[in-house]
Amino acid sequence: MSQVGTLDAGSRHDLRVGLSPDAPDENDFRDDAKGAFGYAHSYETSSRYDGPGLRVVLFLSGCLLRCKYCHNPDTWHLKDGTYVSAQQVIDRLASFAPALRSLDGGLTISGGEPMVQLEFTRRIFAGAKRMKLHTAIETSGYLGARADDDFLANLDLILLDIKSSNPDTYKKTTGRELEPTLRFAERLAAMGKPTWIRFTLVPGLTDDPANVDGIAKFVAPMKNVQWVEVQPFHQMGAFKWKAMKIDYELADTPSAPPDLKKRVIEQFRAAGCNAR
Ligand code: SF4
Repeated sequence: MSQVGTLDAGSRHDLRVGLSPDAPDENDFRDDAKGAFGYAHSYETSSRYDGPGLRVVLFLSGCLLRCKYCHNPDTWHLKDGTYVSAQQVIDRLASFAPALRSLDGGLTISGGEPMVQLEFTRRIFAGAKRMKLHTAIETSGYLGARADDDFLANLDLILLDIKSSNPDTYKKTTGRELEPTLRFAERLAAMGKPTWIRFTLVPGLTDDPANVDGIAKFVAPMKNVQWVEVQPFHQMGAFKWKAMKIDYELADTPSAPPDLKKRVIEQFRAAGCNAR
């Protein structure tokens, strides 16, 4: 059993490793129905990037993907996070709630992959809803089948990463299958759940025009998708791979240049998406 700790404010760019060495492996993990405790990397208090308005962003530990471009490999394993109570997180959130409400913001839970700890995430979102906060989750959708309708009912917005449309490119990029993400996107569309699609543009890996077109044509008919956001790859997470001694294949990959981003945004727009 991990020791209950205190979650410090910080940033997604902080390197945090080895904080709960007794934590279970994220691949086998299912949190209990109460979700009273969980593993978290950090939280930021003033993001204007991860959903509408001013946001508190909670970064949870645990992810089953291994994206070659991941900026936060220190969120992959539960054992690298701090073991905290959901109540501690909710109490902390409460101190920001008036400011978040007045600035049309709310809570975004990101990771890692928040649905690895589905019950912990559910409990925190329920707390946020009691404070009348807007709620958003950032997810790869790989574990979307775990999300029951009650879980989704507490979410105002889904930030869904579609990392590629070509199944081989998706597998090469993430180590996992594309199919669960597509099925989750279709379910959100059928529910009319507000969604922003996010696509990380990596030169030489995800930038093939046909790969981009595949996402654009899949997403364009979905009326629930408000935005497609193109996120250029950068090297800000490289130091984490080095510090954790993980082989980093993209060490020599350049950041996505503005003209490449422009081309990809235009591809999405040509298909009928609101892209930025
Ligand atoms: S899904 Fe996100 S946290 Fe998980 S490996 Fe990919 S980029 Fe990293």
